[in-house]
Amino acid sequence: MTSKLLQPGQIEAAAGTIPELRLPPADLFLTRARRLEQLADRMLGLGDYLRFVARLARVQQACADALSAPALPDAECLDQCRAHAMPPLAPGGLPPPAGWQETVRELARGAVDALPESGRTALQRVTAMTDAQLDEVAVRLLEGGDPVDAAAAPVVGAALQVHWSRRARALEPGQVARPAHPTLCPVCGAHPVSSVVRIGGTAEGLRYLHCALCASEWHVVRAKCSNCDNTRGIACYHIEGGDGAIQAEHCPECDSYLKLVRQDKDPLADPVADDLATLALDLLMDEAGHAKSGINWYLVQGRL
Ligand SMILES: [Zn+2]
Ligand SMILES: [Zn+2]
Repeated sequence: MTSKLLQPGQIEAAAGTIPELRLPPADLFLTRARRLEQLADRMLGLGDYLRFVARLARVQQACADALSAPALPDAECLDQCRAHAMPPLAPGGLPPPAGWQETVRELARGAVDALPESGRTALQRVTAMTDAQLDEVAVRLLEGGDPVDAAAAPVVGAALQVHWSRRARALEPGQVARPAHPTLCPVCGAHPVSSVVRIGGTAEGLRYLHCALCASEWHVVRAKCSNCDNTRGIACYHIEGGDGAIQAEHCPECDSYLKLVRQDKDPLADPVADDLATLALDLLMDEAGHAKSGINWYLVQGRL
């Protein structure tokens, strides 16, 4: 019989102290931007697009760093949400962040010259939109319903990400209840972008779903469909010839798939950036008739 030494992270995990919830780090958008820039240099067809999103992410980081402390629900509301396993930062239960429309305009102004000439007019139009017009785009985006303004959607989504990730960062993990089932973010109630196998510390080898809105991550066991909780017949697909760091995990029960981003295969892989850079995998899954259960807000105009 052989014995295996446990590394520090594994010892804590074995002791039942795994982090169920990871709130977003302070350099969230900078890390995302750096990864997008790295991927843009590797990807021939998608390079210009990834460089544009990288610029957007850099401006998101600058906006996030410059904002004052966010307003949170009061202690009584937080306690109620925790007691009833409700997401405390659900957009429906909170007033919109003060001044968020100005963040949209800053993002549009800051990212416009990363676009080719032909794409700049649409972004310049966003800087001239009124607060009421931007509110309308935001409501539709947050409700995930009707089509929204295609040019404004990624920038409005990026501004909402800035404000909601800052709100999430102001919470403590202990203030958020563990969800009854893992389909939606326990912090804000939004859908995930993808799932990510993390490396390092107590999260070593654990899988987390990554929220499309507030960037919080919640733990879900591997080989389980995050859309319907099924554990049977889950299959992983990846592009032939690649390193398999990004896989599409397909569930035969609900016929949906979600990307699995494996940092154990590529330590720099990012749940949002690598999802965008593997559109070829989405096209293959779409051709096979499978629906994506994740949503990437930088690409939301693709649904129109
Ligand atoms: Zn969230
Ligand atoms: Zn399923």
